[in-house]
Amino acid sequence: MDDARRRLPGGHVLIEDDRIVAVGSGPTEGLAADRRIDARGKVVLPGLVNTHHHLPQVLTRNVPAVQQAPLFRWLTELYAIWRGLDREAVGAAARVGLGELLLTGCTTTTDHLYLFPRGQERFIDAEIEAAAEIGIRFHPTRGSMSRGQSHGGLPPDDVVQDEPEILADSRRLIAEYHDPRPRAMTRVALAPCSPFSVTDDLMRRTRDLAREHGVRLHTHVAETLDEERYCLETYGRRPVAYLQDLDWLGADVWLAHCVHLNAEEVRLFGATGTGVAHCPSSNFRLGSGLAPVRDLLDAGAPVGLGVDGSASNDTSNMLAEARQALLAHRPHQDPSRWPTAEEVLWMATRGGARCLGRDDLGRLEPGQAADVILIDTRRLSYAGAGSDILAALVFSPWPEPVDTAIVNGRVRVEGGRLLDVDVPALIERGEAASQRLLARAARAAGIE
Ligand SMILES: [Zn+2]
Repeated sequence: MDDARRRLPGGHVLIEDDRIVAVGSGPTEGLAADRRIDARGKVVLPGLVNTHHHLPQVLTRNVPAVQQAPLFRWLTELYAIWRGLDREAVGAAARVGLGELLLTGCTTTTDHLYLFPRGQERFIDAEIEAAAEIGIRFHPTRGSMSRGQSHGGLPPDDVVQDEPEILADSRRLIAEYHDPRPRAMTRVALAPCSPFSVTDDLMRRTRDLAREHGVRLHTHVAETLDEERYCLETYGRRPVAYLQDLDWLGADVWLAHCVHLNAEEVRLFGATGTGVAHCPSSNFRLGSGLAPVRDLLDAGAPVGLGVDGSASNDTSNMLAEARQALLAHRPHQDPSRWPTAEEVLWMATRGGARCLGRDDLGRLEPGQAADVILIDTRRLSYAGAGSDILAALVFSPWPEPVDTAIVNGRVRVEGGRLLDVDVPALIERGEAASQRLLARAARAAGIE
């Protein structure tokens, strides 16, 4: 994933502390190392970057009531469950989702947490603690919802917050956790939820706050035609025009979905360097449509991949998302519109790093952060794929975990297992949190 897109058969990667210091072809003779990891039979890649997620949704995977629902109905039903979230639930869900991500080759992820039920706070702190424990590089975003149903928004009033409270907490999170230094493990971004759940004023004030502190901006946009209709009715503009008027496009912004874009909007994304988190599994799951990825790439927009929340995917599997991105565009009649396997891996690494504003991630090159994954190709599903083993990672992905994941020079997955994580206990904790959440929602529905 360097600019020349080189492949180095039989090559080596040398890591010192948190950085890559050498990459080359051939064996490492003459290079001193405290530890050697044998990569024979394995593909070595930069760690994958996930550009969109909602970790707490892990607790509401495939809820029967919304298995067949498009976005707005899906949201309305799930708000009624998510309003019961608490810190324990968020912490448990984050550990489960982050563990899944690491096992599927993702070494950097973002999360978009926007739902704070009344009386609950410090959810993002709980996620940051979980990410530090699991050992993944983390870009939490301080999400927000301020336009409840009584003000023409979609969410119920008891899951939206006052705008001064949102801005004060955003400021606090930046001060406490945002690390602008190279190879930072934690960077904060600000992320009002969507055009149908916040006010224009909050969009503007969030934008100013982010630019004052040099942090990035994120939101959902152009996900569904329902959203487009909402924007036309409420703001008299299409969603992207709405963002443009708010000065919410630019190289410090990346946006989830971007399914319903016209040609002029695609051009704007390229011209402004606005990034796109392409989430094909979620877009299929909710029947939202398919983002114009070929056009966005041609326009020069940064495009990364996102697994999106686990209530609309319903997994945090980065390699599966890469395969989805490979196949999703192929119903198009013209094969030149189809992303190639190499382009998909590019989006999963370099494209994602660009969306998150990271020039220190996404490549195996000296000076880059030491985020490296090893995938063992001595598997049944790769037998016969030796003519292009790199492409096989997305054409024929083995459903098992990656062999090794190294984050910032620390081995976090070894032999396909998460290190320092009691996985059976974590599964139990996640399942218990999910049961509690669903029971709470059932009780509340009974009372109402
Ligand atoms: Zn989302």
